[in-house]
Amino acid sequence: MFKWLENHHRKEILKQPFPVQWREILKDRVTHYSFLNSDEKNHLEQLVQVFIAEKKFEGCNGLEITDEIRVVISAGACLLILGLPHDLFRKLITIIVYPSTVFTPPPRAGLFITQSLIVEHPQTAILGQAFMSGPVILVWDAVRREARHPESGHNVVYHEFAHYLDMLDGVADGTPGLHSREQYRIWADVFSREFFQLRRKSKKGKKTFLDAYGAKNEAEFFAVATEFFFDKPVQMQKKHKALYDVLSDFYLQDTAERERHCKRNA
Ligand SMILES: [Zn+2]
Repeated sequence: MFKWLENHHRKEILKQPFPVQWREILKDRVTHYSFLNSDEKNHLEQLVQVFIAEKKFEGCNGLEITDEIRVVISAGACLLILGLPHDLFRKLITIIVYPSTVFTPPPRAGLFITQSLIVEHPQTAILGQAFMSGPVILVWDAVRREARHPESGHNVVYHEFAHYLDMLDGVADGTPGLHSREQYRIWADVFSREFFQLRRKSKKGKKTFLDAYGAKNEAEFFAVATEFFFDKPVQMQKKHKALYDVLSDFYLQDTAERERHCKRNA
């Protein structure tokens, strides 16, 4: 896991101690950080430190990029890869941040690689977008609110970075690069069953645990399931155990046990 530290440039970055103010931001603004054990906190801080040093954050519509914005976004993104190879976000260069909800026109053909473009709601309000070769676009007021309130089950940072992981193989199909052939088999089985179940229920207007937005297509299903895996893992494990298990085997994190452990010791 720590092979990445061998990279000279990163070694230099990590020679600097993790800024105390950044740790305060994590404690105050990122609820999931408090669920981590000390090794995980340490690893997340290293990932965040490198992520911030290597990525470019651009504020739009007058938004000035602050440490809080950098740290909260980076923590959400890096939490997804806490158990995965650190290099998965290597090619991502820019994160564009809007102060509040944005309305986007449909993308012009050729502007990005359209085959793997995720457009959440063309011409309507969006909280984020992810593109195969970057950038990732986020809306700060949603990011800030959701990082503190996992009980909502919504987290646009997890959502967009899950899309990014999904698209690393060139297609937004709801299946990121898995660890074994056997895992692909189980993933296809569980995901298709769960996806069509969500579709059926949401079509009938029935109440669902997972957000009905996940019924839009396979890519959205994976992004929505990822939000619940990190935000409401104990409930997800109870209600959708097979789905929880495949996500746990992919992310190599047991978020439900993490949350239970934290609550036992609270
Ligand atoms: Zn999406």
